[in-house]
Amino acid sequence: MHVAPSEQLSATPAGVASAPLASNFLRAIVAEDNRTSKYGGRVVTRFPPEPNGYLHFGHAKSIVLNFGLAAENGGTCHLRFDDTNPLNEATEFENAIAESVRWLGYDWGDHRYHASDYYAELYRLAEWFIAEGLAYVDSQSPEEMRARRGTLTQPGTDSPYRGRSASENLDLFRQMRAGAFPDGAHVLRFKIDMGSANMNLRDPTIYRIRHATHHRTGDTWCIYPLYDYAHGISDALERVTHSICTLEFADHRPLYDWILERLADGGQLSRPLPRQYEFARLNLTYLVLSKRKLIQLVDERHVDGWDDPRMPTLVGARRRGFTAAGFRLFAERIGVAKAGTWIDMAVLEDCMREDLNARAQRRIAVLDPITLVLDNYPSGQSEECIAPNHPQHPEWGERPLTLSSELFIERDDFAEHPPKGFFRLSPGAEVRLRYGYIVKCVGAEKDATGNVTVVHCTYDPDTRSGTPGAAARKVKGNIHWLSAAHAVPAEVRLYDRLFATPFPGFGGSAAERMSAPEGVPELSPRASLGDENDDIDDGERTFADDLNPNSKRVITAFVEPALQEAAAEEHFQFERHGYFVADSSDHVPPGKPVFNRSVTLRDSWTKDLGTRKGTPT
Ligand code: ATP
Ligand code: MG
Repeated sequence: MHVAPSEQLSATPAGVASAPLASNFLRAIVAEDNRTSKYGGRVVTRFPPEPNGYLHFGHAKSIVLNFGLAAENGGTCHLRFDDTNPLNEATEFENAIAESVRWLGYDWGDHRYHASDYYAELYRLAEWFIAEGLAYVDSQSPEEMRARRGTLTQPGTDSPYRGRSASENLDLFRQMRAGAFPDGAHVLRFKIDMGSANMNLRDPTIYRIRHATHHRTGDTWCIYPLYDYAHGISDALERVTHSICTLEFADHRPLYDWILERLADGGQLSRPLPRQYEFARLNLTYLVLSKRKLIQLVDERHVDGWDDPRMPTLVGARRRGFTAAGFRLFAERIGVAKAGTWIDMAVLEDCMREDLNARAQRRIAVLDPITLVLDNYPSGQSEECIAPNHPQHPEWGERPLTLSSELFIERDDFAEHPPKGFFRLSPGAEVRLRYGYIVKCVGAEKDATGNVTVVHCTYDPDTRSGTPGAAARKVKGNIHWLSAAHAVPAEVRLYDRLFATPFPGFGGSAAERMSAPEGVPELSPRASLGDENDDIDDGERTFADDLNPNSKRVITAFVEPALQEAAAEEHFQFERHGYFVADSSDHVPPGKPVFNRSVTLRDSWTKDLGTRKGTPT
């Protein structure tokens, strides 16, 4: 996998002195545990993705947090695939996930694990729980189980199978494993407390029958452990110290502790045990981050696949030209909190600008060209003007830009009837051709429909940039240009935000939007617990209604010849336009240049949103 050498591992953009790390509650906990030597100074975290999709921006927050905490403390962070549901999981997703983590700049060393690595041990421990009288086989139908589960306000009632003897349970569980029963016939449950105020402690299911081929273990198993059971034990087996997950798992922590405490008391695990901590998941305005919605975007072809540059996936971000350092900067800047927050998309875009500003060489592109003729410049003649590759990095060198009598400029750099405060070209006005001469507009040609086709100027030979006295004459406007005979056509994809409203699916008036965070539900814990997950659907408005119809525009632009040599994934600032990246798959140097706009130079979206707090959960 290719990582640009300049992508050094820091939250700070290339070339910017690194700031001290701000404290947050997790850093404070780790520091305290180190001070008391709770884990003998060890810090082991893990990032536990389910290999059933591509990573999104929310995962980036979790990755930076987990790998960052470990790295800051000389510890390790494990990449653990939480592959307990054979139905949707695939090696293809695993590989893409691993590559995205590496792209973000992190390395798990030898610590690449799978929940499925522990299936045999998890099974053995399940038999141990049965033998201890702490688990039983339940043969109720799912409907019966649901009916006895109770509600948030009402306790549940015991299953009629709760009193089965350990030997009967063991016999049934072994038959479950041996494939004697169809899917759904029985489950294994913990025997905890059907009256608990915490629903997660009402005899949670820990094994179910699923006659399905697993992408790693094949047909070895036809019973699979559930997340809550597999997760804590996987943490303990890997001797994780700090198990960090998102807020919706806070109610699962008592179960996490119950499992590990029983096993440690029974001599099945050694202490100190890992501890779970919860932080607020990332919610970003103008985006959706739930896997279900991302799948829908791809399946319904609202985007061109998982790595569409508009997708909030890490493969999409990379293709868009967002940078790993930009994500690390973003994660550091937004911090980690215990209460749900909404982060304005502009914060992420600003982090990308900041990083790209530091790392991207400058180039010229004219996106919407009209011809400018220098009436007093000898036709057939040309000269080279010198443009620096980066204004703050003279050591990065410079390149020549050929000037001739016929140029391309941006259509909107000329106005026949300039509004007040317009300092670019208009009849009689003067501007500097960046890196070239001061020119004065002497007229314009129009076509039959009144569109300006050619702008005429004269240039002042005494004002060439970089020559003595050139700076003596001041003009307010400064525009970019390319020599028409030398410019190279390129495909440029102008990407913008995928959604036009801050809370997709909750569109409507500005006032409604401002109140939306309370209406936007926190995601429920993962579907494998039996909840059908995710979001409230009001049946009418969906997030697809709020797609931005202008999120992608493909144009043929003119670019300076040097851009033909750009390497795929090389970042540039197109002066006065924004940051662009040579497309990773379609850009073919030197014949077929293709650039994607990563982000404009300035935020063109409303600024009134800011970062706002949701209701703590
Ligand atoms: P989704 O909720 O989008 O379907 P997921 O949580 O099911 O994603 P996993 O692969 O299980 O996806 O997540 C791996 C890790 O990433 C988990 O520890 C989870 O807490 C974390 N994570 C997922 N979404 C976010 C988010 N929006 N912000 C921060 N961390 C997240
Ligand atoms: Mg989830």
